[in-house]
Order: sequence, then structure tokens, then C-alpha cells
Amino acid sequence: DRMISGEQQQADQDLELSLRPERLSQYIGQDQVKNNLSIFIEAAKMREEPLDHALLYGPPGLGKTTLASIIANEMGVQFRTTAGPAIERAGDLAAILSSLEPGDVLFIDEIHRLPRSVEEVLYPAMEDFCLDIVVGTGPSARSVRLDLPPFTLVGATTRAGLLSAPLRDRFGVHSRLEYYDTKALCSIVERTAEIFSVSIEKDAAVEVARRSRGTPRIANRLLKRVRDIAQVKGETVISKATTQEALRMLQVDAEGLDFIDHKLLMGIMDSFQGGPVGLDTIAATIGEESQTIEDVYEPYLLQIGYIQRTPRGRVVTPKAYAHFNREVPGS
Ligand code: ATP
Repeated sequence: DRMISGEQQQADQDLELSLRPERLSQYIGQDQVKNNLSIFIEAAKMREEPLDHALLYGPPGLGKTTLASIIANEMGVQFRTTAGPAIERAGDLAAILSSLEPGDVLFIDEIHRLPRSVEEVLYPAMEDFCLDIVVGTGPSARSVRLDLPPFTLVGATTRAGLLSAPLRDRFGVHSRLEYYDTKALCSIVERTAEIFSVSIEKDAAVEVARRSRGTPRIANRLLKRVRDIAQVKGETVISKATTQEALRMLQVDAEGLDFIDHKLLMGIMDSFQGGPVGLDTIAATIGEESQTIEDVYEPYLLQIGYIQRTPRGRVVTPKAYAHFNREVPGS
């Protein structure tokens, strides 16, 4: 597992449960999303209706599950969770939907991975709070409509573009989570340190934040490892020097890049004079799948402007050359 992967890893699970903020006011950053949601929540509560169905999208580890559970807390209802790949048949979803209490929040993670036949059950459920069930077979088959309690569906996806239009259109609220800036991440690191009952110097917290690729999950994971090293060294307040040493040991550089990022960037710089070069050619050169590069390795490098996509392929930017203290070819 990459230290700087936004995906949840086995070791994150218990840690994350204990760190999950419970109220909107404890959820750091994402101000636009938070402001909109707080108005929608307040209005729904005044009308004594469930909140509109909400779609949360953005890269892994930015706090979609956390936000969904906060919505349930703020609305004062139960939080039920499942995931697209876990629902194989229409009947599985029908069973979940018919067990909801009025007003409940049903969270479906990776909603873009719901099978199409299951999605079709969701349409009338979202629109009219009912289930259309076919009973019997052959010529005697008929459709029976069952009422459901009103509920709020919160869907999360890393790939909003993969959602079918009819499903996307049935969400009244669309919220896109952005990578966090260093200031917000630093507050998250300080909050986590407090929950861990450890002290951390401000510039050490900034150091963790800067290397966390805009992602709270990574910030918390890095802090946990930094804390271990500080503890072994007998340090009572985690210092910047120890943080830097720990992150060096974890092979996470000053911009939060690891050996895979280095391999990708160096591959383009060394073998293709910085590009442009096609994705498949890069994949063959560094021995990785094109899809993995596109979905997992590349988004953050694009985000920080180390790689650009051009019609002729990927290009490594002068900013990336500067990071490696290298001259841009031909400059
Ligand atoms: P995935 O889609 O991969 O499940 P996610 O976007 O749902 O990821 P979460 O599980 O909600 O991510 O968040 C990961 C961790 O980061 C959690 O431990 C959560 O407590 C913490 N976290 C996320 N966002 C915030 C925030 N805004 N403030 C404080 N902590 C946060």
C-alpha cells in the first residue's frame, strides 16, 4: 500500500472511526459545500421533510463518508451505509430500502458501480418513495407498487462522469469536494493530534499538511506514523525536525510525492525529454497499467501542475523540473 494513497487501507479503518467529526461545525474546510448544506439542512428541518437526495463527488479520502454521516446527525436521523459493488441484485436494494425508518439517510458509496438493473429500482424510490415489484412470472406477472418511508439518499463517487444521466438528475443537491489547502489540512492535523493526546509544533503540523496531497485521510495516516517515531525518540512535543525525519523514512518527499510519482515523472523526463508522450507509451516504459496511471497516479500530479495533458500526450512542466533541481531540456 502506498503511504500517500487516498484510498482507505485496512489500518485506517478503526483510526478513521475515532477521528470522524460528528457535526458540520467540526468539519474543517470545504466552506462552499458546508455553507450550502447547512442552508438545505435547516430548510428541510423547518419543513419537517427529509433533505433532498445529495450526490457527493471528488477524489478518495476527502471526507465524503464523513459528510454523509454528518448530514444524518444534523437531521437527527439514522445513518445507514452500503456500497455500489455490495448490491448485486434489485432485491438486495429493495430489502435495504424497505427497512428504512422515515427520514433516514441511506449512504451508497461508489454509487457509479451499481448494476443497471439495481439503478432502475432506485429511480421510483428516489422520485416517489415507492418500489415497483414484479410478482409472478409469464403472462400472469404483474407489477405491484409498495410505498417506502421518505428518506434521503446520499451517493458518493470518485467518478461523477460515470454516473448515468437519469441517476445524476435525480439528486437535488450536487456537491463537489475539492482537495484541501494547507491551512485546512493543518487544522485537521492539529485536531487529530488533540484526539491522539499528543502535542505538535505548528511548523511540524504544517509540514505534515504540505505533504498530504490535499487529503485528510493521508494527513491523518502520516501523523500517526510521525507520532510513533516521535514517541520512540521520547519527544514530548512533535518537532519539525522529527516530522521531516519521519517523512523521509516513509519516503514521502517535500511535496508529498513518493517513489511511484518519481518513477512516472523521471520516466517522462529521462526517456522522452519531458514529453509530450502518449499514456500507453509511458505505461509500457515504467511497467504500469495505463488505467492505473490515469485514475490513481496522475490526478494529483495534474492538480499540482507537475504534468499537463495535451492533445499529443503528457508533458512534464518546468515546475516539476524545478522540484527535481533539473534544467528543462532546451532552455
Ligand atoms: P472514500 O470515498 O475513499 O471512502 P471519503 O471521501 O469517504 O473516502 P472519509 O472516510 O469521509 O473519506 O474521510 C477520511 C478521514 O478523513 C476520516 O477519518 C475523517 O475523519 C477525516 N476527514 C475527512 N474530512 C475531514 C474534515 N473536513 N475535517 C476533519 N476530518 C476529516
